[in-house]
Amino acid sequence: MACKKLYFFGFRYECPFCHSYLRSLLPFGLNFPVLKEKRVVGGGYRLDCLCPICNSFDRERLLYLYLANQTDVFEKPAKLLHVAPEERLKNLLCSKTNLDYLTADLFQKTVMVKMDITDIQFPENSFDIILCNHILEHVIDDRKAMAELYRVLKPGGWAILQVPMSLSLSNTYEDSSITSPADRETAFGQNDHVRIYAGDYLTRLADAGFNVDVFKWTDDMKNFGGTGNRYGLNEDECVYRANKKQTLRKD
Ligand SMILES: [Zn+2]
Repeated sequence: MACKKLYFFGFRYECPFCHSYLRSLLPFGLNFPVLKEKRVVGGGYRLDCLCPICNSFDRERLLYLYLANQTDVFEKPAKLLHVAPEERLKNLLCSKTNLDYLTADLFQKTVMVKMDITDIQFPENSFDIILCNHILEHVIDDRKAMAELYRVLKPGGWAILQVPMSLSLSNTYEDSSITSPADRETAFGQNDHVRIYAGDYLTRLADAGFNVDVFKWTDDMKNFGGTGNRYGLNEDECVYRANKKQTLRKD
């Protein structure tokens, strides 16, 4: 590790997770033509993506910086459900004493509970915050999953629901007749994806009841690495925060 730190040492980038100063980040991601052709953000091959010291991805760094700068998740008591948890973020969140923190996944063995997001075992209004990133593009009935996430969120609660997003499509591309891993790879850019979302993703979330805020980190340059992109973020990547309305109190 010390040797790696020395090798990559420089002042071009700084990793917000491991606090390394780096002369470069490493390329990462799949390189299927469809991802380039449909300009899919949050998927595909990126040159400056991976921290060589702690292996954080660009999208994980964005998420962390968003949580730190745009929310009170690190201060306020909250019940947080983290689905398919990102490793570095999980380590950070589970150390926070203000959080009642629960990890869940259908396949990962290291999570606290096994959970299918289309059939969540918790009662309605259970969580203040849900993090569920890069999951919905794997789920055939994503509308059911969105409805379930909405149901278990408390009124006034919010969820971060990141997905790979095409900048060139006007409508989400999905085709239920495409089922083999090889065909899904060609069509959707990954062998276990069932669609490529487009801007109408927001409509699907709204149909499930959410009020969605779209955050562009380039609108808050000073906290997100400045014009020099110090934290190595994807300049096209937005954060999708899906809010469940606070219920009005009847007096
Ligand atoms: Zn790092």
